[in-house]
Amino acid sequence: MSSNSGIQIPSRLPLLLTHEGVLLPGSTMRISVETARNMHLVKNRLLKGTSLKSTIIGVIPNTRDPEYDTEDLPTLHSIGTAGLAVQVVGSNWPKPHYTLLITGLCRFRVAQLLKEGPFPLAEVEQLDKLEQYTSPDEMSEAAGPDGELGELSQRFYQAAVQLVGMLDMSVPVVAKLRRLLDSLPRETLPDVLASMIHTSNKEKLQVLDAVSLEERFKKTLPLLTRQIEGLKLLQKTRKPRLDDDKRVLAVRKGGVLPGRQFSLDEEGDDEDGNDTAVLERKVKGANMPEPALRVCLKELKRLKKMPQSMPEYALTRNYLDLMVELPWSKSTTDCLDIRAARVLLDSDHYAMEKLKRRVLEYLAVRQLKSTLKGPILCFVGPPGVGKTSVGRSIARTLGREFHRIALGGVCDQSDIRGHRRTYVGSMPGRIINGLKTVGVNNPVFLLDEVDKLGKSLQGDPASALLEVLDPEQNHSFTDHYLNVAFDLSQVLFIATANSTATIPPALLDRMEVLQVQGYTQEEKVEIAHRHLIPHQLEQHGLTPQQLQIPQDTTQDIISKYTREAGVRSLERKIGAICRAVAVKVAEGHNVTKSEAAPAESAHQGAEHGEGKRGRRAEEPDGVSADMAAPPDMPIVIDHIALKDILGPHVFEMEVSERLTLPGVAVGLAWTPLGGEIMFVEASRMEGEGQLTLTGQLGDVMKESAHLAMSWLRSNAKTYQLTNLVGGSDPLEGTDIHLHFPAGAVTKDGPSAGVTMVTVLASLFSGRLVRSDVAMTGEITLRGLVLPVGGIKDKVLAAHRAGVKRVIIPKRNEKDLEEIPANVRKELDFVTASNLDEVLNAAFDGGFPGMSNPLTLPHIVSKL
Ligand code: ADP
Repeated sequence: MSSNSGIQIPSRLPLLLTHEGVLLPGSTMRISVETARNMHLVKNRLLKGTSLKSTIIGVIPNTRDPEYDTEDLPTLHSIGTAGLAVQVVGSNWPKPHYTLLITGLCRFRVAQLLKEGPFPLAEVEQLDKLEQYTSPDEMSEAAGPDGELGELSQRFYQAAVQLVGMLDMSVPVVAKLRRLLDSLPRETLPDVLASMIHTSNKEKLQVLDAVSLEERFKKTLPLLTRQIEGLKLLQKTRKPRLDDDKRVLAVRKGGVLPGRQFSLDEEGDDEDGNDTAVLERKVKGANMPEPALRVCLKELKRLKKMPQSMPEYALTRNYLDLMVELPWSKSTTDCLDIRAARVLLDSDHYAMEKLKRRVLEYLAVRQLKSTLKGPILCFVGPPGVGKTSVGRSIARTLGREFHRIALGGVCDQSDIRGHRRTYVGSMPGRIINGLKTVGVNNPVFLLDEVDKLGKSLQGDPASALLEVLDPEQNHSFTDHYLNVAFDLSQVLFIATANSTATIPPALLDRMEVLQVQGYTQEEKVEIAHRHLIPHQLEQHGLTPQQLQIPQDTTQDIISKYTREAGVRSLERKIGAICRAVAVKVAEGHNVTKSEAAPAESAHQGAEHGEGKRGRRAEEPDGVSADMAAPPDMPIVIDHIALKDILGPHVFEMEVSERLTLPGVAVGLAWTPLGGEIMFVEASRMEGEGQLTLTGQLGDVMKESAHLAMSWLRSNAKTYQLTNLVGGSDPLEGTDIHLHFPAGAVTKDGPSAGVTMVTVLASLFSGRLVRSDVAMTGEITLRGLVLPVGGIKDKVLAAHRAGVKRVIIPKRNEKDLEEIPANVRKELDFVTASNLDEVLNAAFDGGFPGMSNPLTLPHIVSKL
């Protein structure tokens, strides 16, 4: 091959192990890439590489049984063929794989394996010397080497000419082969012909292993002769059909192992013919709209003309398979009964009354109007508060299919809208994929985490989503891959987000935001006992007769092992308990961990007796009743068992334990994950009046710190604050350091203002802040306290942490209504309109300088 001359292969090659045959130099082969190792090679090398060098890989025949494809690298065949990856086509159908089109360049020997993972890389020695190749022009003059080798090559050439002569020259491939025979250097003929004629993989492997040219000629000549004899035989018996001429190379049988068949057939075999017929029937039966049908029929026509070996064949085939699978006109019938929906929502979810009410209203309107046009519901709240779960319930009440589309981190438009089919690895977007998965055109799609959509150079996914959600446009949504419109107007979209702040405004405009709040401790206990525990028991094949978690254990799990607004980690912890108990039950150990009095256990056992009878009665077939013979007594998880299973308490540090030094106070922060308490710390040292702030603070927060500092300096005398040397300017001869844990999380916002003032006041006065107070509020330079957001979440966080008194801005008083009564009852709220009031409430016995808190109104007016 003239294209070979001048190619010096790299000394290090990534190795592709293939079962699919033996690639010989000078031939081109399609290799399907499915194993993890090979996929890595394609992804990391071929798809990422930019130079020609990076498209050269070593192809090593894998002689091991393909079934036996393990993690370990099999013993490598020592000789392989360096190949140029001419084309890479990716597809997800029926499972993720790539198809490579590879042209063999020359042999190499594996000198040393450099690394095994993620794909093997080896130091290689090039075996086919480039000098061996003579250009076609020189060939005609030199007519190959002399001696035995010359004679061999001459005989081989003649046999090849004879073989080609027996074929039908009217077939273009045959004519091309005839021309090639004269233009190719003779040395390359054994490889080229061995890969064309019908040979088994074993024979091809022998040709590959024949490094010396002489040996190679000797190995391939008998194969060529065998093919010629076979053809002769066939010609004698052949039917006078032109078609057969085309097939002739492929048909030879007789002792040849079934391997990769080489066929000059351009029309595909019979099986394929049937295949396309089946596909055609499916296309016609898919009930697709006229434009889609037209496209499909056109593609089908193209497919029929394509040889199967063409990479485009797979692409077109995949496309058509998807088209026939899409639910163009398949839908489920809605069975909405508002009363039933109410019962179902109530039975699936505890609390969240406001949300449930709004969802029912939404459904009722749908029922009356029998149309879906209207705002998209968007549930906004911390993780684990049941947003997805409510979405699932809505699908259930409507009798529709449910599908969740995770949008977190999606930053490419084509994730939503698909890739155009011309791209390597092109595939439809998530919407079309979702429809294919559910198999009906009116599912409930939950667009999860719309606030986490990204943006990149590949276009803005939010704008693609807009089109999906817009009732005026979505009846003709066009996925780039499909390239024909699909009607999405019957799909019911629901979105979820942690915060509205990062939802693109245009998208937010289309949605009706329903806030879902975090749960109180009591609500969590109820949710755990009504839903989470029964669900986890079922998941782990346990029964309440085998495992019991008393309420105070649940409370312990909530307060000592989780700190969250939702119930997700709570559910995980219960799962962990179930797993631990499942092991015990499976081992047949019925150990009651409880150290409680035996009477209690006996009591549980008695209860169990009833439970057992009840359960049997419910299961007339008695199938699962014997699944795991219920032990005599349930395993009761008490505090000791809990510690055994979940380990030491994760959140043991009580607020009071942290507030043992001056210069620490508890602030309340709001995050998209719910409210949080935050220990703000300050320290001072000799210096030049510098204020250092750490904890990844944003600009607004830094400014608050300076405000707090300035206010304290200007009021130092009133409050009798002193610096290290006893003067009244707190910054004189002093450096201050203010820190906000956790150091790795970026924080911003004005609401820590009051906390900073309190911390610094504590530091400068040397007095301890009350150990049961937490606070939030923005400050002004003149000492006013301004309202802030997220009060409910913050108060719930304070309550979770065991705080007793919460200081909030006066103007936030109205937000207290949202707080559940039981939480309100347990907390003491101080509403402050200025910093004096804050300091008074934060320190035991008020703050010096404010000796009589009753003078507050007077001071307020003074400010
Ligand atoms: P989100 O989507 O808000 O992150 P999920 O819907 O995934 O949260 O909820 C996490 C788990 O908590 C689910 O198993 C869900 O059933 C359960 N859960 C949350 N809230 C409730 C509730 N009010 N009643 C019953 N189960 C709930």
